[in-house]
Amino acid sequence: MSYFDLSNSKLKIIAAITLTAVGSEILYYALKKFRRIPKAEVENEVLFFPDKGIACPAYFERKSGCNQSVCSYIHEVTNLRRVIIRLREAKKTLDVCIFILTCQEIGQEIVNLKRNGVKIRVIVDYEMANSTGSRIELFRRHGIPIRTKKVLQLMHHKFAIIDGECLICGSFNWTMQAVTANWENVIITSEPGLVQPFAIEFQRLWDEFSCLT
Ligand SMILES: [Zn+2]
Repeated sequence: MSYFDLSNSKLKIIAAITLTAVGSEILYYALKKFRRIPKAEVENEVLFFPDKGIACPAYFERKSGCNQSVCSYIHEVTNLRRVIIRLREAKKTLDVCIFILTCQEIGQEIVNLKRNGVKIRVIVDYEMANSTGSRIELFRRHGIPIRTKKVLQLMHHKFAIIDGECLICGSFNWTMQAVTANWENVIITSEPGLVQPFAIEFQRLWDEFSCLT
């Protein structure tokens, strides 16, 4: 059956749909031209540690869920999980600039991202790179480039940039001590005015620091 064999009512429906689609397109560009449509929504999230417990890995990661009748973990979204959920959103790049990274869960998440093709760069404090429980050696084994600088001063930053458009920063070092015991704050934002200066600073440090050998 050709297009022209369609009944009058069908033709009317097709014409109405086409006109609606074209009309809404014209309206969109007209509104955009006059700045009635806001720019991409900026997302902000503020987290405060310590978490009151550790989120149950089975409950959140297994399809079958947690089968423990009495589970020592908690079955609700913790702040650590919120950070991990954000990291998991990385599609292209993840730049991490952190004083100390010993949290196994975050370490494993970063390795998983690397396996999934995300380009990862890590800047870390020279002394803390080899601290007890540091995940840095694990990263190196997985081919993640690490840079640092052997100086007396601390590389005390704690921030990460996801896909160049989401910033995670605050007092929070990526350690379980910080997750479960310390009072810490974290801001997660897609506000370009905040993300961009951190991205520039990351690149500046990346260029200044040397590969960890
Ligand atoms: Zn559980």
